[in-house]
Amino acid sequence: MTLNLTEIFTSVQGESTFAGLPTVFVRLAACNLRCVWCDTPYSFGRGDPKPLAEIIQHIENQGVGHVCITGGEPLLQENVHHLMTALCDKNLAVSLETGGSLAINDVDPRVSIILDIKCPGSGMSSKNDWANMNRIKKNDEVKFVIADENDYLYAKDIVRKYNLLSKCRAVLFSPVFNEMDAKKLTEWILRDKLGVRLNLQLHKFIWDPATKGV
Ligand code: SF4
Repeated sequence: MTLNLTEIFTSVQGESTFAGLPTVFVRLAACNLRCVWCDTPYSFGRGDPKPLAEIIQHIENQGVGHVCITGGEPLLQENVHHLMTALCDKNLAVSLETGGSLAINDVDPRVSIILDIKCPGSGMSSKNDWANMNRIKKNDEVKFVIADENDYLYAKDIVRKYNLLSKCRAVLFSPVFNEMDAKKLTEWILRDKLGVRLNLQLHKFIWDPATKGV
């Protein structure tokens, strides 16, 4: 049993409520979307097939308690479910970053899903699987990447329409790096008294923003 891998590395998690936590990242290959501001286009290729057993052994060797399965779009590969369940069985904390266009109902309930909802500025908002709004759980998080005010208003409407703040652990508003002014986004959140969490990408402040594998 294999998974097509773009990269595997250990760093600190830059986003979500796991931000700052030492984490093993498993970046799976290929994506069905093409967000205009995507910062990991190098994950669009086919990647290298790696046996699951080898991936799990590598993760265990790191001695780190949190694993983030990311991409690309990890849910394109059926075997990702075997990996996530195996890692949960080893009592590791597992999170899954998914682009929000595919159903999340087969994901092991022990996994914390970080579910993107694509805003209009991504060019991919028509791909959102809205049925996922009824599948998110208390240990999941919903993330909006915001490029401009139009995206902010869109995200605000979705948060209210689907009552997201009561459904999951956190709703994350993340400014597009070098495009959306984080200060402006913060002002909007405070003005509108939204209970969402500002989500900055820590790794882009620690390392050069173009650095891979961090
Ligand atoms: S879903 Fe993620 S990996 Fe795919 S294009 Fe969008 S930002 Fe990039």
